[in-house]
Amino acid sequence: MIHSETFAEIATLKERNLIALKEAREAGRHAVGTYCLFSPTELILAAGAIPVSLCGTSQKPIPAAEKVLPRNLCPLIKSSYGFAVTDTCPYFHFADFLLAETTCDGKKKMYELLGELKPIHVMQLPQIQDEAALDYWLMEIGRLKTRLEREFGVRITDKALTEAIRLMNEERRSLQALQDVCKAIPSPISGLDLLTVLHNRGFSVDRRAAIELVDRFAAELRQMAAAGISPFTESTPRILLTGVPVGVGSEKLIRIIEESGASVVCLESCGAYKKVEQVREGGDPLRAIAERYLKVPCSCMSPNTGRLELVERLTREFRVDGVVDLTWLGCHTYAVESSVLKKHLQQRTGLPFLQIETDYSESDTGQLKVRVEAFLEIVHRSMKRTA
Ligand code: SF4
Ligand code: SF4
Repeated sequence: MIHSETFAEIATLKERNLIALKEAREAGRHAVGTYCLFSPTELILAAGAIPVSLCGTSQKPIPAAEKVLPRNLCPLIKSSYGFAVTDTCPYFHFADFLLAETTCDGKKKMYELLGELKPIHVMQLPQIQDEAALDYWLMEIGRLKTRLEREFGVRITDKALTEAIRLMNEERRSLQALQDVCKAIPSPISGLDLLTVLHNRGFSVDRRAAIELVDRFAAELRQMAAAGISPFTESTPRILLTGVPVGVGSEKLIRIIEESGASVVCLESCGAYKKVEQVREGGDPLRAIAERYLKVPCSCMSPNTGRLELVERLTREFRVDGVVDLTWLGCHTYAVESSVLKKHLQQRTGLPFLQIETDYSESDTGQLKVRVEAFLEIVHRSMKRTA
């Protein structure tokens, strides 16, 4: 683990923020729980409420979820539901209501069950990213605006929306700057530590303070990179991890890759690089929000060419030596898309590619290690050929 006071501060942010959230709720502020990158955070902020990410990355509540949900469902969905039904996610506990979107089938059916536990607003997400879909999505965003206004007795003004867009764009800029530090060869931070920062800062109640903290940490990392301080060497294989969302508690694959001698330098997932694209500033703020959120390159979109382009671009920008595509067991959209991504990358980059399908349990750790080690041998051979 990286030695830095700022890192230690971020690593304990989740627990400390809980106190801030409890105090804010007691002072009469509202909180809205979200699960997905399609949730337009700007509207929650503009309504004067606190957006909170909800737990869903731990194996622990899955047995409780399996009493209701099918066992062969994706662990992210089972974990999210398990946390809710056992009331062990404090962020869920403090949320006034939940904001969700119809993404994959498992998630949208789970939201129906969650609606029995808390008030929920489900946005009907189009699954194509064209102009007609944008008009429809804009209408859905308008519906959310009305719901928030009614729920919290406020009026969401264009001014408040514009300010929220600016704040969220600042956050996106700071998140991108943090991740871009890993473009250094070698990267000054392990993928595991990077994940800890990305995960924990997502539970921030005070967004400005969190931006400042991430900026401070990124500046420290830049200094380390300039001084050549790194847990890796220049010849350590550099891996891009793409696929399903990963968080603290579901980081098994990143740990295995790094224990096997590689460095995960880029995470193209929902809490990481998928998140950094800015919302256009100027013009109608609701339309700008609709445009940005509809573009999320999630596998529930059909077609999902945005992900192919994003992953390809990141392989070049981060000068990676191999790509690992992670699919949670039971996630059909990412599983099917894997072969499309593999073909695209083989044609465009020729990089070694590995798909891993797993869940949150540790039962297959040994088997995964063998597969990752074999893959890294291929990566080493390919690095020698291109050296
Ligand atoms: S992968 Fe898709 S459905 Fe899952 S969190 Fe990301 S945007 Fe939402
Ligand atoms: S990982 Fe796949 S199945 Fe699981 S919630 Fe995300 S899109 Fe749905």
